[in-house]
Amino acid sequence: MSAKSEFIDAAKAGNILARKCVKCGELHLATVYFCKKCGSKGFEDAIFNGVGSIATYTIITVAPAGFDKYTPYAFVIMQLDDTDLRISGFMGGIATPADLPVGTRAKITGFDERGIIIEKQ
Ligand SMILES: [Zn+2]
Repeated sequence: MSAKSEFIDAAKAGNILARKCVKCGELHLATVYFCKKCGSKGFEDAIFNGVGSIATYTIITVAPAGFDKYTPYAFVIMQLDDTDLRISGFMGGIATPADLPVGTRAKITGFDERGIIIEKQ
């Protein structure tokens, strides 16, 4: 199984799969070959609860082709509770900033063609 499908399976279960450097502990979200901090090639999986708060976001009102049916939605950046990691994802039904104050509690609820799906908690 590729790292990517493992990541997707984790997201579908509401979790984030990260790669933790065995030497310095630095966490990486994407599949990496060298630690960006210390250069080590040794990693282990680290699973985090996909729960946190909205750090920032961009509301999409003019969607790319194929995504029209989802508008309005927001491309959100969520700060996870259990780590310093921030993850980006899709949140539907967001039309104006009043719909989503920064700091809103949110959680990962799935993964599909939109990427990581994040919903208000
Ligand atoms: Zn490292």
